Amino acid sequence: MNTHIIICGGGVIGCATAYFLAVAGAKVTVVESDGIASGASGAAAGIISPPSINTSDDPLFEIKMVGFNLHQQLAQKLPDESGVQYDYSVTPRVIVPNTVTELSDLKSRLSDTQLNESPTELLDANLLAKQTGWIDKTKYGGAFLEAGAQVDPYKFTLALVAAAEKLGVKFITGKVTGVNLKEQTFESVTVDHKIIAADACMLSMGPWAKDASAWTNRAIPVRPLKGQIIKTQPQKQLTHLTLINGSNYAITRENGLLILGTTEEDVGFDTSITDAARDEIIAFGLTFSSALETAELIEQTACLRPLSDDGRPIMGELIPNSNLFISTGHGRQGILMSPAAGRAMSDLINTGETSLLDLSPFDPERFN
Ligand SMILES: Cc1cc2nc3c(=O)[nH]c(=O)nc-3n(C[C@H](O)[C@H](O)[C@H](O)COP(=O)(O)OP(=O)(O)OC[C@H]3O[C@@H](n4cnc5c(N)ncnc54)[C@H](O)[C@@H]3O)c2cc1C
Repeated sequence: MNTHIIICGGGVIGCATAYFLAVAGAKVTVVESDGIASGASGAAAGIISPPSINTSDDPLFEIKMVGFNLHQQLAQKLPDESGVQYDYSVTPRVIVPNTVTELSDLKSRLSDTQLNESPTELLDANLLAKQTGWIDKTKYGGAFLEAGAQVDPYKFTLALVAAAEKLGVKFITGKVTGVNLKEQTFESVTVDHKIIAADACMLSMGPWAKDASAWTNRAIPVRPLKGQIIKTQPQKQLTHLTLINGSNYAITRENGLLILGTTEEDVGFDTSITDAARDEIIAFGLTFSSALETAELIEQTACLRPLSDDGRPIMGELIPNSNLFISTGHGRQGILMSPAAGRAMSDLINTGETSLLDLSPFDPERFN
């Protein structure tokens, strides 16, 4: 067992791994260059959606499903362990088509009896408006899917940190600028010109993990994919649910806010917010709900998803038998996947294997 593990990057992926490693009894130090969850992990929408059964042959299906189930389990104990309430709540989901093609896709999804998505009924526009109270401007109505969940992603990451700290994990501020190997085995990291030695290391620097490519001479094809969301305050309390249209969504928070997103912008490490994105997201919301007509815009944020070249996470030992590990590239659903990623990586670092899920589709070796 590796006794002291350094984790580089304090986003949700690094913090979840630190938590599960600490639960397993390891000594862990997390190095974060900015603030905990200062990247996408703190600014995501926090939607925890189970994957659709019709994606069961997708290599990401298992990690999403395990992540969804672990979120349910964590919600029972992590708030007490950490002292941090992170607003986990079961959230009904409504899928709303806006084009003829989306409508026919939804109909075939609902008529597939093997999917067990209940109820398998398309509600017309009037019925949907009546049942939801605020999804009242649809062309074709919509359908309730199996419920999902949500968390406040910043508070969720803080809960992992607080629980991990109680188990002895150290969090330090510093920028990792190098990884030092001896004959292809991990020895230490360089943090702000200081050397910190350990038995093993995990790189979880989100889209910045690519920097480690130069330190290790390995391909780490991860890049930032910018996303913007807006937070609005509707005039009345909306029925609690998530509206889904393709890759866009609107989700109610228990504090009354309505969060809407999102964009996908391949613009490097630029995190500026733009009027164009704001207008696009508001237009999306107005297509489906009159609640947006009188809602107040509270905040607009932009952050960077870590996206790998083939869209799959990069998780595993970066160099075979080196004790240098990596976990990044969780793209649009890193909050959902984080407990599964954290526990699987903790197993791998501690014991060299995991029975939680098949990590082979995510093997960093696939790029070398
Ligand atoms: C608009 C938007 C909405 C989203 N909504 C959802 C959602 O609803 N549900 C969902 O499941 N996912 C969602 N996501 C995706 C999710 O936010 C990400 O997949 C996830 O947060 C990635 O976590 P991470 O820990 O890998 O990376 P990050 O959160 O980027 O964390 C990496 C950390 O590493 C630190 N770091 C970088 N370089 C160094 C260094 N050299 N030394 C030390 N530290 C360093 C950074 O400061 C950062 O804190 C959303 C993303 C966006 C952009």
